[in-house]
Amino acid sequence: MTEETKSLCLFCSLGCGLTVRKSSGNVLHVEYDRENPRTRGKLCAKGNLIASLLDHPKRIDAPTVGGRPVSRQEAYHAIAERMTRASGLIVEGDASSEDLAAAADFGRTCLSGGPVAVSFPTGDDAVLSSVLRFSEFFSMAEWEDLRASNCTVAVGDPFAVGPVVAGPLLEARNAQRGNSLNVISATPGLTSRFAKTSLIGSVRGSLKSLLVNALGRSAEKPEWGRVILGQSEPSPLQQAAEIQTLANDLAGAGRVVIVTATSDPVAASLAALLAGALGSKAKVFILTDYGNASDIVQSQPGFCSVEEVFHKIDGGQVKNLLTLGVDLVSSYPGLPVEEKLGQLDHLISGSSFPTETTRRAEIVLPTTLWIEEDAVRAGKRRRSAVPPPGAAQSYGKILASIAAARGRELHAKSLEAAHPRKATIRELCLELLEEARKEPAAPRVKSTETRFAGGWLTGYSDWVRARFARCPAPLH
Ligand code: SF4
Repeated sequence: MTEETKSLCLFCSLGCGLTVRKSSGNVLHVEYDRENPRTRGKLCAKGNLIASLLDHPKRIDAPTVGGRPVSRQEAYHAIAERMTRASGLIVEGDASSEDLAAAADFGRTCLSGGPVAVSFPTGDDAVLSSVLRFSEFFSMAEWEDLRASNCTVAVGDPFAVGPVVAGPLLEARNAQRGNSLNVISATPGLTSRFAKTSLIGSVRGSLKSLLVNALGRSAEKPEWGRVILGQSEPSPLQQAAEIQTLANDLAGAGRVVIVTATSDPVAASLAALLAGALGSKAKVFILTDYGNASDIVQSQPGFCSVEEVFHKIDGGQVKNLLTLGVDLVSSYPGLPVEEKLGQLDHLISGSSFPTETTRRAEIVLPTTLWIEEDAVRAGKRRRSAVPPPGAAQSYGKILASIAAARGRELHAKSLEAAHPRKATIRELCLELLEEARKEPAAPRVKSTETRFAGGWLTGYSDWVRARFARCPAPLH
């Protein structure tokens, strides 16, 4: 009998609706969910290929110790024996809220103060926290606001991060003469090909100048104008005309939507300030690659950065490391990760697919994909659409089982009570401009593609072709 379960794609923060069709528990294919009120049945290439991940032949479905398949219990006991002292934990940034709560509790209960870090390989955490700090000064846009905008400002390249967003943004641009789509980005991208004005390159200078122009037409926030005018550098001359054009469009538009899809926290913060300066007619839509954890983690004591964990490996305070969902070797190309991992006594890695990190790990654990577990992500409960394969478990269940193997119990509490930090507008502006003077750290990985099966969606297209060859019904 064929069963259908509705779910969401979580490869980017758009969360497009989809339907998983299965028979006897096996996934047949993924279908468009035309009843989804926001995305109306659209999926990009990444969403279309989710079904291929679920029964992919490279999927890890059994634990191994030293390359030998073992039972779950054997693996958890082996880990408990190795992680008795000088141990640390690194969890990926799109872990569920339950997984993060378990990670924090595991740190307290089983690591005796050893480090617990969350890895955000795309820089989403910095962007979200920058924007959320300003969230009390503007409204967040809903899907319908994208279609109703007279003037859209894309900061970064939203068409690349969440391709499905291109439809409503182009609908808005084409709805009436005078509507415009504009781009502010460090580099040209897909979105800039469709833009009326493209401020490419000097994101900081351009945005500050843009703010000054917009503020010149806004009597609502004179104090912001003074702060920014007093501290901003002149705009590059070659962009002055485009900035003026955009400022005119912003001033004349009835409804403005600012879509941030950037891994640059300074650009994201300045976009939020621009929204604040425009007052009630502007709304902000935040688009991210991943990053469920975002602000939740930053507000919790006990979490640290991945770099701090590496520092502790150098200092000998971490000799045993458990990684869940994060491929450290591929995600931090600028750091000598292999050298750090080589200093460990024991590396244990949980993953859904083989990675460069699992290849170096002594113990490997199979983990679930989001579509296989009931969990809260981005503030919403997502239901499991398919059962996990073999012995795969969520990070939270893995941590609870390791704790149990050590005779401990986790009592994870919700991490969702996080509140954005409060400050006055002037403090936020000054802090932001101080931040803008420094070059922010470059994003460690700029990935808009599926990371599984060797890291890239394109890397496993051979498998999709093979699947088509043996299964005549194509994926929809
Ligand atoms: S735009 Fe693509 S990657 Fe993003 S949620 Fe939709 S289908 Fe998934």
